Amino acid sequence: MISPEQKIIIVGAGVFGLSTALWLARDGYQDITIFDRCAVDKNQYDPSNGCDGASADINKIFRATYGRKPHYQKLAMEARNMWLAWNEAIRKSKPDELPPCLAPGDKLLDICGVHHLADGPELLPRYASDLESMERTAKDFRKQQFRKASSTTCSDL
Ligand SMILES: Cc1cc2nc3c(=O)[nH]c(=O)nc-3n(C[C@H](O)[C@H](O)[C@H](O)COP(=O)(O)OP(=O)(O)OC[C@H]3O[C@@H](n4cnc5c(N)ncnc54)[C@H](O)[C@@H]3O)c2cc1C
Repeated sequence: MISPEQKIIIVGAGVFGLSTALWLARDGYQDITIFDRCAVDKNQYDPSNGCDGASADINKIFRATYGRKPHYQKLAMEARNMWLAWNEAIRKSKPDELPPCLAPGDKLLDICGVHHLADGPELLPRYASDLESMERTAKDFRKQQFRKASSTTCSDL
């Protein structure tokens, strides 16, 4: 039986390694060490400074619609709240409380929206499925989706 005092090592400090460590820590595990072949503490996950993990990038797209995979959508919505809480925590921090790569004005998640384009007036089946699923499972988010081609209402499917 694993107890919270036992040593845990995680190999790989990408988003999966870090989130594993975070959730173990939140569950009470106290002695977790993450190893990585890259000096991520020094390069601060900067791809222009030698960090080549998939998680290291200058931006990432946050996808919240997953059609017929509602468990992914649920996960995305839960994650969205956490990212926004981290934005708020960063905003309230003093500069010297943050890692060198972050300043209080930085956002980890920017809700800037997304614009999908298609070849013709019909929605791609994937987008139609996403909206239909959202209508059933996340009505408030569905109201934030707009179809520009509709002449009657831009929020209509
Ligand atoms: C070009 C690209 C664009 C993407 N865009 C998006 C996007 O917009 N939105 C999105 O959600 N997802 C995106 N993804 C997917 C997402 O980036 C990955 O699913 C996620 O980052 C994988 O995280 P990871 O922790 O598994 O792997 P990684 O981030 O690759 O982390 C693995 C870590 O393990 C370390 N490592 C490897 N081997 C060893 C070893 N032997 N010893 C010690 N350390 C080791 C590496 O240095 C690395 O830091 C994109 C992926 C790519 C490649």
